[in-house]
Amino acid sequence: MTTLADPVPGGRPGDVERATALSAELTGRGVHGIVLAYVDTAGIGRVKTIPTAKLASAAAWGVGMSPVFDTFLANDSIVSTDVLGSPDGDLRLYPDLDHLAVLSGQPGWAWAPVDRVTQEGERHSGCGRTLLRRIVADAAERHGISFKAGVEIEWAVGEGSAPGDDFAPAVSGPAYGAARQVELSDCTAELLAALAAQGVDVDQLHPEYAAGQFEISVGALDPVAAADRSVLVRQTIRAVSQRHGLRVSFAPAVFAEGVGNGGHVHLSAWREGRSLHSGGEGRYGMTAEAESFAAGLLAHLPALTAVTAPSPASYLRLKPSQWAGVFTAWGRETRESAVRVITGTAGRRAQAANLEVKPVDLAANPYLALSCLIAAGLDGLESSAALPDEITGDPARFGAEEAATRGVRRLPTSLDEAVEEFRKDELLRAALGPVLADAVIAVRLGEIAAVAGLDDGQVAAAYRWKY
Ligand code: GLU
Ligand code: MG
Repeated sequence: MTTLADPVPGGRPGDVERATALSAELTGRGVHGIVLAYVDTAGIGRVKTIPTAKLASAAAWGVGMSPVFDTFLANDSIVSTDVLGSPDGDLRLYPDLDHLAVLSGQPGWAWAPVDRVTQEGERHSGCGRTLLRRIVADAAERHGISFKAGVEIEWAVGEGSAPGDDFAPAVSGPAYGAARQVELSDCTAELLAALAAQGVDVDQLHPEYAAGQFEISVGALDPVAAADRSVLVRQTIRAVSQRHGLRVSFAPAVFAEGVGNGGHVHLSAWREGRSLHSGGEGRYGMTAEAESFAAGLLAHLPALTAVTAPSPASYLRLKPSQWAGVFTAWGRETRESAVRVITGTAGRRAQAANLEVKPVDLAANPYLALSCLIAAGLDGLESSAALPDEITGDPARFGAEEAATRGVRRLPTSLDEAVEEFRKDELLRAALGPVLADAVIAVRLGEIAAVAGLDDGQVAAAYRWKY
C-alpha cells in the first residue's frame, strides 16, 4: 500500500528507526549501495546512489539533487520555464521504504523510488510521484474510488557488440516464436528469477512482433506502486540483459519503420472492493461510471499524447494498423482502437475487467502518464460523459466522413500537434499544476527543436538508447 503522507524533514514517525533496521539487514545481505530513482519530465530515469549505511540519514533528511532535471531533455541539454531550469536551488530525494527492492540483477545494490521535497520540507511541485499519490488520494476522498494499474513493457534486445549506436537484433526467430524464446532462454530465465526475488508478480513474458522484441506484463497494483514497478522492471531487464552481453531499447521506435515498443496502460476503478467495470448495466457489464470514465479518456486522448507519447520518436510508433491504437475509439478486445475494453474470462470478470490504453509508450514518465489518465477518466465520470458507439475492426478503414460521423479522430501525428492539443486542454494542465504543465510544454518543444532537420531514421537513432 502506498503511504499517503508526504515525507517531511527529520522523517515521518517511525521512518528513521525503520531505515536504521533496514540498512543493517541490507548490509547483512551484501547490499552496499541504494539506487534512488525517479523519472524526469522527458521520461528519462535519473538516479543518485547512497551507501547502504546512509539510508537512515536519507529517510530523515533526504539526499540532495537539483530541480534542474525537471527541464532536462533526453539528450541531457537543458531548457527552462518561468520557474524551472535555473542552475540554482536544491531538492531532497526521500526514498520510499515501502517500495525498496534488493536488485537481484545488480548484486550489491538495492533500489528505491523517491519523492522530491523542497529544503523547507514542502512538496516539490515538479514531483510526478507526489502528484500521482495526491490524485489517487483525492479520488478516494471525493468519489470513494481507488484504482488498479499495470504498465506493459515491450523492449527490443540487441547485441551488445553491435558497432556504435547500431541495433543488431540478438534473436532472429519469428514473432511469438518458439525459436525466439529458445534463443533468449538463459537471459529470460534469469530475468524471471530476478523479478520473482524482487517480489514482482509477473503475469507473462513473450517474444513480441518486432525485430528482437519481447514483452512482459505484471500484476495490477495501486497506481503509484504500478508506476514504481514499471521503472524497477525496466532497471532489472536492462541489468540482467547486460550481464548476458545484450543491450536493450525501450524506445518507442527502434527503427523509423515497423512496429515499435508500446507501454500500454491497464487501468480499473474500484469502489468498496467492487470493480466499476463489471456487473453493471452498461455495455459489456460496465457500470455507468465506468462508461463515463472511458468516455473521459477518449475525449482527452489527443492532448494526453503529449504526456503518454512524449518523444519525437513516439510518433514513429503511433501509426495505424500496428496495434498502437491511434484512433479515439473503443471496443471490446480491439487492438487498433486507443481504448480496449477487457472484460476478462467468464467467471473472473469481477476481478479482471479493465481498460487498456494503447497510445502510451515507455518514453512517458509513468507517474505523469497515470496522473493524467486518471484525471481524464475522472473528468468523464464527474460529467457523466456519454461513451460513443463501439468500433470494431481497424478504424483506419473509415473515410474522413464516416470517421467524423462516428466520432473517430486520428490522434496527433507529431509531437508538435500533441503539444498544441495539450495547450488547449485546461483539465490536463490543471491536473499537472502550472509548474509541471509548463515543464511538459517546454521539454516537448525542446525535444522538437533537438530533432529539427533530422529525417525519421535519424530521429529513431537519436532516441534508440535513451529510454
Ligand atoms: N508493439 C505494439 C505497440 O507498439 C503493441 C503490440 C501488442 O498489442 O502487444 O503498441
Ligand atoms: Mg505487446
